[in-house]
Amino acid sequence: MRRKIAAGNWKMNGLKASLAEVEALKPVCTGECDVILCPPATLVAAMAEVAKGANITVGGQDCHWNESGAHTGDIAAEMLADAGAGAVILGHSERRADHCETDMMVHNKALAAWRAGLQAIICVGETEAERDAGTTLDIIGGQLAGSTPDGATAENTVIAYEPVWAIGTGRTPTLEEIAEVHDFLRGRLVERFGLDGEGFRLLYGGSVKPGNAAEIFAVSNVDGGLVGGASLKASDFSGIIQAANG
Ligand code: PEP
Repeated sequence: MRRKIAAGNWKMNGLKASLAEVEALKPVCTGECDVILCPPATLVAAMAEVAKGANITVGGQDCHWNESGAHTGDIAAEMLADAGAGAVILGHSERRADHCETDMMVHNKALAAWRAGLQAIICVGETEAERDAGTTLDIIGGQLAGSTPDGATAENTVIAYEPVWAIGTGRTPTLEEIAEVHDFLRGRLVERFGLDGEGFRLLYGGSVKPGNAAEIFAVSNVDGGLVGGASLKASDFSGIIQAANG
């Protein structure tokens, strides 16, 4: 039985005052599912302080593959861990598009995350043009293989399927389309990692809201969600956490 995850990605949103949202989430963080919140790097340490003692893991949204060095503007996995993070999102489609991140870069970032003791949340997902061209599973399979290092385990890695065209658009794939991709991902993980492949958590991401979370989380091989917009307000995200609580 895989424990569900409700993960929030605040992207480039949030100031210190936004930490009140974390406080307001605590009543629904009752331990039935794992809750991960990934604020901008400026808030990781302060959020970790607010989340102390609650069932909330704080995560980063990206990390560099090196431990330190001349990389202006970048953040090492060790720095995230030092600030109190326990996880990091890697290869989000916005980073792949805006910062030209390749599968190999994501692969190296995952190694860095593990080196620092962080759980890597590796994102994969097709564009609308790729879906229309019928190449969704080829794209997802390639991203999964190229971005996930051999040392991946059910404990150190979570895979998030996020169709690019569903992110922030209010559009979602059908439940059948979500099941098709998640079943495919499960098959690939079992092929590569044997029985351990059954233990990896697979998150769906893309316009998850309180109103559709329960039906999406009930889909075959969906072990929770990676949520952008609806994770910013406790009033929305608490409904999604409750759906993951079951
Ligand atoms: C995301 O950016 O990871 C995401 C899924 O965004 P949204 O929930 O806003 O579609």
